[in-house]
Amino acid sequence: MQFNSSKFNEDFYNTSYDDLSTMSFRTENSTQANISPNKGRCIPNYMKGLRYIEPRLTQKSIHVQYMTWKKYHRLAVVYAFLDQLEKEYPAICTVVVIGKSVHGRDIKMLKISNTDATNSGVWLDGCIHAREWITTSVVTYIANCLVTQFHCLPKYLTNKDWHIVPVLNPDGYVYTHTKDRLWRKNRSKFKGGIGVDLNRNFSYGWGNNGDEGSSDDPSSNFYRGPEPFSEPESASVRDTILGSHSTFKVFLSFHSYFECIIFPWGYKVEPCPDYIKLLEGGIAMSRAIHQSTGKTYKVGSTKDLTYFACGTSTDWSYGVANIPYCYMVELRGRKHKFKLPREEILDTCVENWQGVCKLMEYVDKTS
Ligand SMILES: [Zn+2]
Repeated sequence: MQFNSSKFNEDFYNTSYDDLSTMSFRTENSTQANISPNKGRCIPNYMKGLRYIEPRLTQKSIHVQYMTWKKYHRLAVVYAFLDQLEKEYPAICTVVVIGKSVHGRDIKMLKISNTDATNSGVWLDGCIHAREWITTSVVTYIANCLVTQFHCLPKYLTNKDWHIVPVLNPDGYVYTHTKDRLWRKNRSKFKGGIGVDLNRNFSYGWGNNGDEGSSDDPSSNFYRGPEPFSEPESASVRDTILGSHSTFKVFLSFHSYFECIIFPWGYKVEPCPDYIKLLEGGIAMSRAIHQSTGKTYKVGSTKDLTYFACGTSTDWSYGVANIPYCYMVELRGRKHKFKLPREEILDTCVENWQGVCKLMEYVDKTS
């Protein structure tokens, strides 16, 4: 579906705003969810037409952006998209600020739930590493599919309390749009460097394996921070999950660009107690991805497929929060690394929507 007003269809990179906290926008309903998990019965909700809300920006030049999966978006657009979903679908959507970043930005989470007390919890996060922009595209796409098709999705998708954080590291994310496209960490200041690698700042296995698993040097890209959960962004994950009424069954943290699905442990070589179940769940996802677009995502433990990673969110969610299915999904793409071309955004979203759907089916079958 094409927008009918070209004046609003300006290239995002020409926009003048940065991180506006209030803006109005239009949303493009998903027309690309061409592989419905409920084949034949679910009609994408694109007949409603486009919504246009009068901009309320006070800036001299008004540039309105709206959510699509044709390009990457700034934080304000992502957050406005979450707010719009809540406004349009109040029966199932709630936007919660789960914490503040080092610089005081909101860390927004979209909760999607039919509030059935028997639901289990699912966690999805993107951009814990700031430069991995495709992860935000994927989790917002999944949110959009869930919300706009909720009425006709299979039960294994609707019997979940979805907790979706598209940008877990908002300071870093803004920094990648304004200063340094390849920034990874958050923006904490330390003597000797800026930023903590938030995916080395969780408590389980924190600091293990010395320099192989993380770094004690603030100038390193893998700086683990002065202590576990020293950073508000990682602490917000801990507090939200441990403080939730939901019993979480699935924890998915999205990264790029290794094209693989990896699970605990990252802090040691030995297989985790549920290695076989996690392997099977990962293979179910990987198969669905391959059937969707032909892409191959390898499956295995973090250490087996990548390297020692100590203090990760997935080791913590599995080892401390006792969530049985914990994965880091490393998205595309090996060729362009963190700068995945916008032409590949939609395919990456679609294949991972299929993968996540299949994982939920697998999880319900096995428990
Ligand atoms: Zn990453």
